[in-house]
Amino acid sequence: MADFLAEMPKAELHLHFEGAVEAETLFELDPATPLEELRGLYRYDDFDGFLKAFGAVGKRLRTPDDYALVTRRLLERLESQNVRYAEIILAAGVVLWKGQEFGPIFEAVREAAAGSRVRVRWILDAVRQFGVEQAMKVAELAAERAGRGVVAFGIGGSEERGPAEWFTEVFAFAKRAGLRLTAHAGESMGPESVWAALRLGASRIGHGIAAAQDPELMRRLREEDIALEICITSNLVTGVVKSLEDHPIRRLYDAGAPITLNTDDPAMFGCTLTGEYRLAARYFGFSEAELRGIAENGFRYAFGPASY
Ligand SMILES: [Zn+2]
Repeated sequence: MADFLAEMPKAELHLHFEGAVEAETLFELDPATPLEELRGLYRYDDFDGFLKAFGAVGKRLRTPDDYALVTRRLLERLESQNVRYAEIILAAGVVLWKGQEFGPIFEAVREAAAGSRVRVRWILDAVRQFGVEQAMKVAELAAERAGRGVVAFGIGGSEERGPAEWFTEVFAFAKRAGLRLTAHAGESMGPESVWAALRLGASRIGHGIAAAQDPELMRRLREEDIALEICITSNLVTGVVKSLEDHPIRRLYDAGAPITLNTDDPAMFGCTLTGEYRLAARYFGFSEAELRGIAENGFRYAFGPASY
């Protein structure tokens, strides 16, 4: 089973660029800071602590060359797991917040990705709690690059501090620009947050695990063919799921909700995509055929051109 999972062609649909920066890569960027100190950035106690850690790592990426190096290191790791297609979420909102120019950074990551065997598309992500104005700026950056590597616009961050309703106009704008839509929802909040993301027009949901509490919602996801971007380790580490046994992936799958498997923030959570499939096999009783089906979903629900 282990070899089969490593060799199986895989797609990543929920992978944050800033959450995929290994401490070793930060050290390559800044050899003057001891590696141990850099590793300390990745320690936190709860979901808000995680969001702060995510910001602290992002802050250390300063130039387009920094972003290019991170892209190359990330894609090397994906290639080694036979990931053939990846949609990488770039927190354009954080780039703006740092006062950096987005254009040169995007060109740098795009160029760095062009040399990889992994086919890469980009999702520009706004931070919910940064508010609507910032989100509209991110949507505009995404719209300008629609068809030039950017396939979608999304929102992430704190569901509590940035309710979906704020972003109705922003999502409508992104849709008119030809972008696909996704939203983190039902991660740290309940099913109502997923319903709100559906009202925004999201055609995939980041996490969405709270849908397991709502049979009507699971039916809607199945009927409208809206996939959940499931990230098991992430949910455990951020504490939104208390234990592996509590993770609802099996219930969601059995209810027919379309499922994909992803890593979210592999550097921050110490996980790999192959490892997520192993968890699914070991703890949730997925058979080889089921796991192959889930891997195929990674290509089927891709926003860009992907084939299994
Ligand atoms: Zn995420």
